Amino acid sequence: MKDKNLRFPKIPFRTPGGARVPHRKHTADKQSVIMPTPDEVIIPMSQHIGAPCKVQVAVGDAVCVGTVIGDSDAFVCAPIHSSVSGTVKSITKLTMPSGAVTDAVVIESDGKDTADPDIKPPVVENLQDFLSAVRASGLVGLGGAGFPAHVKLNVPADKEIDTLIINCAECEPYITADNREVIENSWAVMSGVYSVLELLGIDRVIIGIENNKPEAIRILTEIAENEKYDPEDKVRVLPLKASYPQGAEKVLIKACTGREVPTGKLPADAGCIVMNVTSIAFISDYLKTGMPLTKKRITVDGSAIKEPQNVIVPIGTPINKVIEFCGGYKAEPGKILMGGPMMGIALIDDTLPVLKQNNAVLAFDEKEARLSEPTDCIRCGRCVSACPMRLMPTRLCADVKLKDFDAMRKHQIMTCMECGSCAYSCPAHRHIVQTIRLGKSQLRAELAKKKGDK
Ligand code: SF4
Ligand code: SF4
Repeated sequence: MKDKNLRFPKIPFRTPGGARVPHRKHTADKQSVIMPTPDEVIIPMSQHIGAPCKVQVAVGDAVCVGTVIGDSDAFVCAPIHSSVSGTVKSITKLTMPSGAVTDAVVIESDGKDTADPDIKPPVVENLQDFLSAVRASGLVGLGGAGFPAHVKLNVPADKEIDTLIINCAECEPYITADNREVIENSWAVMSGVYSVLELLGIDRVIIGIENNKPEAIRILTEIAENEKYDPEDKVRVLPLKASYPQGAEKVLIKACTGREVPTGKLPADAGCIVMNVTSIAFISDYLKTGMPLTKKRITVDGSAIKEPQNVIVPIGTPINKVIEFCGGYKAEPGKILMGGPMMGIALIDDTLPVLKQNNAVLAFDEKEARLSEPTDCIRCGRCVSACPMRLMPTRLCADVKLKDFDAMRKHQIMTCMECGSCAYSCPAHRHIVQTIRLGKSQLRAELAKKKGDK
């Protein structure tokens, strides 16, 4: 049921847990730079949650910017497009940061960046047209989640959505890509907001943004408070406390609406859709131009990077080329991360390509990359206080150690979103997240085994 008494909160609702991480938003005030097209891109067929795409081109094929090179019939999937014009050089296997192996299309660029001649703005007259257009655009959650956007926007018939939350929290240290999107592309952000609001028949939009982004807050508030653009007063900007993990979907919903998403349920069960701010701006640009997702703004930063900055790069550009563009390394990198320091994935090397859902590449020198040795748990309870999901990380770690699957389930291990707040707060430097992650994969395997035995 829709809430008939919807109001905008004056201040955010209180959220449990969280960690006081340093912000280190060194690139927040720097204009993004467009990187020249690389000689070659490597485009993996798995850049989203869901079924991987099947390769739609052959070696020797000529492609343009925006040509579909991967797709599948699966519902939870998004097509993949070429980010350069040129020739398909090879189709290879690529080991992704998660360890999964996927097909990848290697394209040699002709340096011309010719757009596919079939690209034109989509005709959108109703919700179905809109969902088809979002699918065709290849959009996935650009904040890092990589969930196909057309699936998220396709609300099940038994759910009623009254609130669209635009996620502009960007709570991970270092990352400023969304902040720059708002500053450099604010009209697209707001136009995307109004398109989704209208097409989905949503009653209110809350733009949740951490209060350490004053310029972005000012720009968005000026547009949202202008009667000309928001005559029915359906859109408001809500500055949030800058505290990690404010941008986690369930935390953001609580902060913006006061509602809790029940365990195992989705935002739609709390009457909400959460969209990343860069995703929403992309929707607006796509509706105007029909150019699918082929480029991505990423924050390149960390103690090993010579010239930290936000760079707009063709998807599939090898990370070492992006780092080279940022002046290269100023110190031997001890750790390279795809994503932020709290939830990013450590890379084995820097030859992997930039993916759709990447929002940062961080490289740290040996000193900063070094992990402290864990010591015995002193039962201080800080990890429990830090957990935004109200879990008991110490209890979960004990369950995993004992391989007690019933206890893992009872203590809701699958609710853990691996945010790392517990480990960050732990004075004994315990490897809490790694242990919980291991427990989750063991539990998944156990459940699959049981299912197979039936
Ligand atoms: S990693 Fe999991 S257990 Fe630790 S604070 Fe985050 S949600 Fe809680
Ligand atoms: S924060 Fe660390 S030391 Fe304290 S109870 Fe949790 S695991 Fe133990």
